[in-house]
Amino acid sequence: MIRRDYLIIGSGIGGASACEGIRNYDKRGSVTLVGAEVFPPYKRWILSKSFLREKEPNLKKLQEPDERWFQAHKIETRFGTVVTQFNIERRLAVLANGESIEFNKACLAMGSRPVRPPVAGVNLGNVIYLRTIRDALALKEMASLERGIMVVGGGLLGCEAAASLRLMKLKVGLMHRDPFLLNRYLDPNGFEGKTVLRNIQTKSGNRFPVGLAVVACGAEPNLDLVRNTPLAGPHGSPVTDYLETEEKGIYAVGDLAFYPDRVMGGVRRQTHWENARSQGLIAGANMTGKKRIRYEQVPCFWTEMFDLRMDFVGDFSVLPTRVGLDGAYAKKKFVARYYQGDTLRAILLCQQTQREVDSAKTQLRQALAK
Ligand SMILES: Cc1cc2nc3c(=O)[nH]c(=O)nc-3n(C[C@H](O)[C@H](O)[C@H](O)COP(=O)(O)OP(=O)(O)OC[C@H]3O[C@@H](n4cnc5c(N)ncnc54)[C@H](O)[C@@H]3O)c2cc1C
Repeated sequence: MIRRDYLIIGSGIGGASACEGIRNYDKRGSVTLVGAEVFPPYKRWILSKSFLREKEPNLKKLQEPDERWFQAHKIETRFGTVVTQFNIERRLAVLANGESIEFNKACLAMGSRPVRPPVAGVNLGNVIYLRTIRDALALKEMASLERGIMVVGGGLLGCEAAASLRLMKLKVGLMHRDPFLLNRYLDPNGFEGKTVLRNIQTKSGNRFPVGLAVVACGAEPNLDLVRNTPLAGPHGSPVTDYLETEEKGIYAVGDLAFYPDRVMGGVRRQTHWENARSQGLIAGANMTGKKRIRYEQVPCFWTEMFDLRMDFVGDFSVLPTRVGLDGAYAKKKFVARYYQGDTLRAILLCQQTQREVDSAKTQLRQALAK
């Protein structure tokens, strides 16, 4: 039996940051990081951006942190390994190769997986879900052979992928059920084909011949490992202000965590990079018992499409009752402030510096503290 002080499940940025958070306060405790992907932790956000466009992307440069960091900090890593069972009472995890790890404390960082829409043909070979390096490499290869590519879903990921494919001079369509892009829903009725996709049929009966589809219909939390336990809720893994689940010593972070938002109010699950990074660091620190830090970050994410960079700060889940604009949409350089009544709830920054983004976070904190 293998025994560890800390077990981290999931080697995305959440899990990698939890290791860092632990090592910031506990240099000696034994730590194992187990991740299903063969590749060490990497910048997942780049997959829909420059990674698609680069002819020969440098996979080493993608790593975050560099895999040597784990060796230097005496963290055992097991990449390409799935945790198949998680026994809360016995504090025991079973790996796909049959080994068991008994742990004192654990962090769940299994992230999320692409939603497969409930329509026919979602598993056809040339229907791609962009989540991992393998998906991105497959998309690059298939895109170079296909003439017609359809991106299904006009949210952040769909728009980014469509922009990148277009910058690669490919013929790209984008299918979205709403009249404007960057909200979350779509309505293809089905993907048609026996083994490969030939057409996409919409609810209204229209048929689009395509050789390749990229489906970007949102991400759902990877909760299979803890299904039917209190660690799996309908919206993610419920955690406290300190990112601890109701099981003492077991934490959840990143795309998985359903946490109380002490800045904006309410309870939420974010599927964004900065959130997973900071939650990992904080959960790791709290796991050592030497710190007790609340997660109190302003929600924040960014996107890049064509020549635009946009940063979103605050809560965009409700439509604003009023928008205040500094700058001009036409000049593609502006700051838009979203209000609910008199209360500032969110700030959208287009082509602004990191300083402006930080200042937007401060403005929101101040507005909400009133
Ligand atoms: C293409 C793309 C572009 C994005 N762009 C942006 C962006 O521009 N800005 C932004 O803010 N966010 C972006 N995101 C979102 C951001 O990447 C995620 O929010 C972030 O990666 C979440 O980190 P995580 O560690 O919680 O989960 P993940 O990154 O999903 O990592 C979880 C890991 O756990 C592994 N795992 C799952 N189950 C098990 C198991 N049982 N055993 C072992 N391992 C397991 C998974 O294989 C995975 O490697 C993007 C995401 C994608 C896919």
